[in-house]
Amino acid sequence: MSHQLFYLSELSKIDLELDELEEDFGDLPEQVRKLEDLVADKKAIVEDTTRILKELREFKTNSKITLADYKEREAELTKKQFKVKNNKEFDAITKEIDYIRKEYNKLTDELRNVNVKEENLIKLLDEQKLSVKEAESELQEKQMELDIISSDQNEVLKDLRLQREQLISKIDPSLFEKYKRVRHFHKDAVVKIKKNSCSGCYSAVPPQKIVEMRGDLDLIYTCENCGRIMYPEELTED
Ligand SMILES: [Zn+2]
Repeated sequence: MSHQLFYLSELSKIDLELDELEEDFGDLPEQVRKLEDLVADKKAIVEDTTRILKELREFKTNSKITLADYKEREAELTKKQFKVKNNKEFDAITKEIDYIRKEYNKLTDELRNVNVKEENLIKLLDEQKLSVKEAESELQEKQMELDIISSDQNEVLKDLRLQREQLISKIDPSLFEKYKRVRHFHKDAVVKIKKNSCSGCYSAVPPQKIVEMRGDLDLIYTCENCGRIMYPEELTED
């Protein structure tokens, strides 16, 4: 006999114990998870701002080079203007100088705006970094609380989880799936038949069914009323 029903009933007991232990944590694990998400979100915002600031500074550096180029070009053109041979050439150079000055002024204006933007971004980045630190220290606090409770329960939990894994490895996968489905509705998924009734919902189990179950403990019966998996009272490992 494969004792599947026995393993299932043991698994159900362990899962109930684990539920109880995990209840002691209250919503701490959830709080820690949420804070972890929050820290990650805030860090992403800092990264974003840092990237924008970097791009802005690159633009500034490039613009300064461009402005120097404009100045140089303007000086060259002015020199050239003294050596022209006719009005047509003179006018052409004047036009070019005008264009360069216009571009120069345009870029200078833009740089002024960029400088204001940069100042604002630096302030914003400081605030965002502070916000990350605050969230991180809050997370650290909650994590410590959780660790303290966990370490108290750690040994028990470890032992129960190990037992659980061992049991699951012995249970037929399709049966385990069935167990999980039942457990979705009833925490106590596997129950004993007591006084010819399902001890989960107290509805009567037909005597014929109980006889069949006793005859073959490999048969898996579920309660017709509540769907819990049932086992006869005398079920033991051997
Ligand atoms: Zn039932």
